[in-house]
Amino acid sequence: MSASHIRTRYAPSPTGQQHIGGLRTALYNYLFARHHKGRFLLRLEDTDRKRYQPGSEQDIVSALQWLGIEWDEGYLKGGPQSPYQQSERREIYQRYATELVTQGAAYHAYDPSEELEELRKLGRGYDRRGASRSAAENRVLAARGVLPVVRLHTPPQGELAFDDLILGEVSRRTADMAVDPVLLKSDGLPTYHLASVVDDHLMAITHVLRSQEWLSSTGIHLLLYQALSWEPPHFAHLPPIMGKDGKKLSKRQGATAVLDLQTAGYLPQALCNYIALLGWAWDDKRERFSLAELIEHFSLAGIQRSPASFDLQKLQWHNRSYLQELPLAEFEALLYPYFEREEGTLSATRRRQIATAAPFVQPRIATLQEAPQWLIFCRPGASPPLVRSQMLKGSLRVPQAIAILQALQNELKQIYAQAAEAGALLKVLSQREGYPSGAFMALVRYTLSGSPVSLPMEALFALLPMAEAHQRLHRGLAELQERG
Ligand code: GLU
Repeated sequence: MSASHIRTRYAPSPTGQQHIGGLRTALYNYLFARHHKGRFLLRLEDTDRKRYQPGSEQDIVSALQWLGIEWDEGYLKGGPQSPYQQSERREIYQRYATELVTQGAAYHAYDPSEELEELRKLGRGYDRRGASRSAAENRVLAARGVLPVVRLHTPPQGELAFDDLILGEVSRRTADMAVDPVLLKSDGLPTYHLASVVDDHLMAITHVLRSQEWLSSTGIHLLLYQALSWEPPHFAHLPPIMGKDGKKLSKRQGATAVLDLQTAGYLPQALCNYIALLGWAWDDKRERFSLAELIEHFSLAGIQRSPASFDLQKLQWHNRSYLQELPLAEFEALLYPYFEREEGTLSATRRRQIATAAPFVQPRIATLQEAPQWLIFCRPGASPPLVRSQMLKGSLRVPQAIAILQALQNELKQIYAQAAEAGALLKVLSQREGYPSGAFMALVRYTLSGSPVSLPMEALFALLPMAEAHQRLHRGLAELQERG
């Protein structure tokens, strides 16, 4: 097969938000196709109406688009096998279900729901009872209103083996597989097994990269390929993604829904980079890849078999370094929506403050949503409360603190005249007056910003209007003097 014939697909079910795991599957299929100059498809597997969550389609599309994972054919895009939404392809599956029944590979099962319920209660799987009913029995059941499903005949004994591109040879005892799984439900919609096999065949998918949780379905799929005399695609089952606690990834590990990560202020390039490394490596050192570099280097040989571990801190580390490398103007532009979300419409003054602060904020945040908190202190109208105990760090006593704030009041005009040197000027002041410089800086920082942690002095002075700084020093003095 020539490389350009490689066709992969991402086939999510619209059953809720897109999470890290699905995203990794999408990314690997995309990278593999792009690397080989093949085609990448997006197919919506929406035949399970019970698990359907409205809005999921949009979530899938938005997540992929945000990350720059483009599909060549498929949902919303069309292509030779349109439609790419399985609920709109039901006649196709029905045709193949009929073919399977005609050939004797599948059968109509008239199972009354009470019987299936009984089996479930007893903790037993299906026992092929539908296959052994006579046509007359079926007619009676049909007359009673029992609707048939189509079930696949599975061999009670034997083994199914296939070569997984990651796991190597995988073999399954058919006795361990689901017994006679349903292919077509009584509502005429296919189950995942039938729809996925039919579509992978019709859409000429050559490689199926999917998470290991689907491994148990692969045997059933192979039986279907055999029955339909189709050549199966190559399978590559991806390692599971665990949380840091060693359990399967879940909400406990923090936000793992892709669009929640977007809202939190992760950059798509950082997320793609990190997700690519959840189960794949180029060598044992390199951790930094743009999407183009991932396409260039991606190969199935780099995918590991053992579980990957999702580490939010590592993702933050990646994001921090991507944020730091952004050109300042780009970084600044990204900040505004995060401020708007917190503060509503931004005044011209506020926008100027954000622009001024951007170079100071850039090295200090791991996610964009952390940015507004650095600028709370200078919001127009902000008046941070001051607590005396917070003003007195180290060995600093009230009289000395009062003297410092008074000295600062006297020098304020001069410091403002050279705000870019504020840090150095304050140091000189503290040395000249013989104050302990750590406690001195802490007092000034706290009095002006209302917080023990702040942007550097030059940013504080650049952001806080002088009249406001005067007032805060005044309030600081009042707080110290009140009970001093
Ligand atoms: N619809 C399945 C899912 O939600 C696709 C599994 C597969 O890739 O075959 O993940």
